[in-house]
Amino acid sequence: MYQRSDSIETLALHIDGQHRPASGGSYFDSIDPYSGKVWTRVPSATAEDVDDAVRAAHHAFSSGPWAEMTPTQRGRLLYRLGDLVAAHAEKLGELEVRDNGKLLAEMLGQMRYLPEWFYYYGGLADKIEGSVTPAERPGMMHYVRYEPIGVVAAISPWNSPLVLTVWKLAPALAAGNTVVVKPSEYSSASMLYLAQLFEQAGFPPGVVNVITGIGKEVGEALVNHPLVERIAFTGGEAGGRAVYLAAAKSFKRVSLELGGKSPNIVFEDANLDDAVKGAVAGIFAAAGQTCMAGSRLLVQESIHDAFVEKLVAFAGTARLGDPMQSDTDIGPIATPQQFEKILNYIEIAKNEGATCVLGGERATGPGLGGGLFVQPTVFTGVNNRMRIAQEEVFGPLLSVIKFENEDEAVQIANDTLYGLAAGIWTQNLARAINLPTRLKAGTVWVNAYRVVSYLAPFGGVKNSGIGRENGKEAIREYLEAKSVFLNTMQGVPSPFVMRLPSVG
Ligand code: NAD
Repeated sequence: MYQRSDSIETLALHIDGQHRPASGGSYFDSIDPYSGKVWTRVPSATAEDVDDAVRAAHHAFSSGPWAEMTPTQRGRLLYRLGDLVAAHAEKLGELEVRDNGKLLAEMLGQMRYLPEWFYYYGGLADKIEGSVTPAERPGMMHYVRYEPIGVVAAISPWNSPLVLTVWKLAPALAAGNTVVVKPSEYSSASMLYLAQLFEQAGFPPGVVNVITGIGKEVGEALVNHPLVERIAFTGGEAGGRAVYLAAAKSFKRVSLELGGKSPNIVFEDANLDDAVKGAVAGIFAAAGQTCMAGSRLLVQESIHDAFVEKLVAFAGTARLGDPMQSDTDIGPIATPQQFEKILNYIEIAKNEGATCVLGGERATGPGLGGGLFVQPTVFTGVNNRMRIAQEEVFGPLLSVIKFENEDEAVQIANDTLYGLAAGIWTQNLARAINLPTRLKAGTVWVNAYRVVSYLAPFGGVKNSGIGRENGKEAIREYLEAKSVFLNTMQGVPSPFVMRLPSVG
């Protein structure tokens, strides 16, 4: 049985290979969502610390061992880091649970899978190949080379802190960039621990720096820093919009992984037992605090009532409790603000006329420590224009919406500002093949939900974001293409008589 230590850890920034307090000397508290108590003190970085971190990253990018390393050597460092992460998976998982209250079983699973990102991108590091284009005019050779961009700012949320940061770090480093990471103010501990593993693996100082603090202050200072050239952001729509606007001022390259209101669609020809598990995994795993939550459950009219009955019976058995214990199914809500937001949406759903068929309240009772828990909640009678069908709640609140046929399912599924993911439950082969092409979403699962892989590009369309993480696509997002024209003929022609049209 896991024992929580009562001693409060004090964390340090990681800048240019040094572990140090914030220059202003101040800290903020991180609360363990299950105990409700302060468990760690996190440095409040200042604008001066942000500047130090970015300058260190810029220096490491421009000169010194990292800049001189071959791609193969960079790849080997990433492999070594993967081995270290595997050896420290348990510790990293525990740190994340203390910060965000998600289940240890889930965080451990994530940490044990994390090394694959370092191995995959370590392997890709020396396979970034340019190209020589066919000769288009006599004596003129043209080739394309791919070059790293420079200093990358990686900004991540609290719900899967390391996974979502490593999705940025691994391809950015494999491509030869350097990075300044700004983890969420609610979940800084695991990234600061990972910074030590980077050091042990042999990454030169300045290649990976970590600064901690509040998004509006530290995040903004980082995004606005003139030496930052590329921003990789995962978080909410408001933060994403602020980052995108700030980046526009100096044309910084940006990728944004934002929120969702993903449809999970159950057809009458589905294996209903599997679909029930998929619906529950989609919304109640991680207490709904996941960007890809299947928060809109679209159920075909002919099976609606029977399906909802099965779903409610199954979801009602979920055990709420200490996320560190292996028999807990649903942990606490990560922050008081998030908790209030969820309860507020439950009220909104009731006022909009939806019917609450499960939960609908704060959960209290023995075994719930000092945490903020919300009962797994299911609303039926939802129509897609209601706010609970359109707005991201980020909690264990499921909106069930009826549809008649496939066309209506597609229409409802796509009738949202978001487009992160979608699920389809069917045993009809033609539907399984045809429907993914009709859904406006970055990822579609058929008879599955919430599956990700280092091999599979992940990201959103519409308000769910810009760009892709994971897979081969992601490494291109951290590179710039450079065209080189090489004249092999003696005697440059007269500049006033162009042999072929020129542009620009
Ligand atoms: P958030 O936007 O509040 O914060 C995310 C990060 O951005 C934090 O590190 C925060 O400090 C920083 N930040 C906030 N405002 C900023 C600003 N103006 N400039 C620079 N940095 C700023 O999000 P959150 O509450 O931590 O996370 C939940 C949100 O993240 C949800 O909307 C969820 O859907 C989304 N999310 C998306 C994905 C994805 O891959 N698409 C994955 C997980 C979470």
